[in-house]
Amino acid sequence: MSLKYYSALGLLCLLIFQSCKKNGPDKPTTDHQDGDVSQLYFNKPNGVNIIVLGDGFIKDDLKKGGAYDTHVKEVIDYLFTIAPFKQYKAYFNTYVVYAESKQRGANKTYDPANTNTKFNASFSDGDYGLLQVGNYDTFYEYVNKAVPKDKAHLTVLIVNDDSIDASTGGEVALITTSKLAKYTFVHEVGHTFAGLGDEYVVPEIADNYSLGLIPYIPNLDTTSDPKKVKWSHFLNNDAYRGIVGTFEGGYYRAKGVYRPEESSVMLDPIASLNYNAPSREAIVRKIDEIIGTPFNFDTFLRDDIPTIHPLSVKVNGNTHPLVNDFIGIKNKAQLMKK
Ligand SMILES: [Zn+2]
Repeated sequence: MSLKYYSALGLLCLLIFQSCKKNGPDKPTTDHQDGDVSQLYFNKPNGVNIIVLGDGFIKDDLKKGGAYDTHVKEVIDYLFTIAPFKQYKAYFNTYVVYAESKQRGANKTYDPANTNTKFNASFSDGDYGLLQVGNYDTFYEYVNKAVPKDKAHLTVLIVNDDSIDASTGGEVALITTSKLAKYTFVHEVGHTFAGLGDEYVVPEIADNYSLGLIPYIPNLDTTSDPKKVKWSHFLNNDAYRGIVGTFEGGYYRAKGVYRPEESSVMLDPIASLNYNAPSREAIVRKIDEIIGTPFNFDTFLRDDIPTIHPLSVKVNGNTHPLVNDFIGIKNKAQLMKK
């Protein structure tokens, strides 16, 4: 090869290097701009679309791999470790919308005149610190940058505030940037995506939630009759024996409302990380509805039974996971024979 060839190759390398440098990660041109959309995961055309937005993230937070990207990836990746999302991950697409606010944080009370954060998210008054979107028009304008509103199957707003562990699941799943946010995210997604109900007991707020809605909530019922309860089809299945039953208490009431398992993420998202079996079924039904596949209970069981979480044990009123050590003992015994 001639020297001339090497020189030409050298020039080409230099040009490539310069063009790489020009678009290098530390240059402002690679920052996300207000209104940008990226696909964190794209698996399936006509799949289930998750649209993530952020409020109270300033320009500096929107850098590639910066604070906003980090929070989004943490909560979305965590959700897909939890059944049934983990088995159905390939049905989901996750879009990330970038919105630039003038300041970080959320207002402590709703102020309609606030334009310092893009969607004017705030904490509601009262002890339960609900998070709420303030400007839905702008919120959906930004959702629409990713997909039309009717194709946004789960909208998520991450509010850049870690001062209060608040989260809300209604039309939008809202979480903060607190350390516990990924756990409460799973709970809020249960509400927003599958219409699951709260299984915890807070009698003071029970009157705000009508018992008339119970027929539409898949993980709660007003009967404990094993033949009539909504999740009766789990009660005579061996795989769920000792796990699924009718446990009194739920929907803010200590009496007269029943939940399917002793604990679940809809009861206490910190102590119990998983959805109970009827909740997992409700989520899979929703996925099937969106992708246009008829729900099949046998297919559900095939995919669900391997994910059943370990039994828990109650000691001094506290719930602890019960490790099934009989399986371990058998394996250990076999190993020792070798
Ligand atoms: Zn809740």
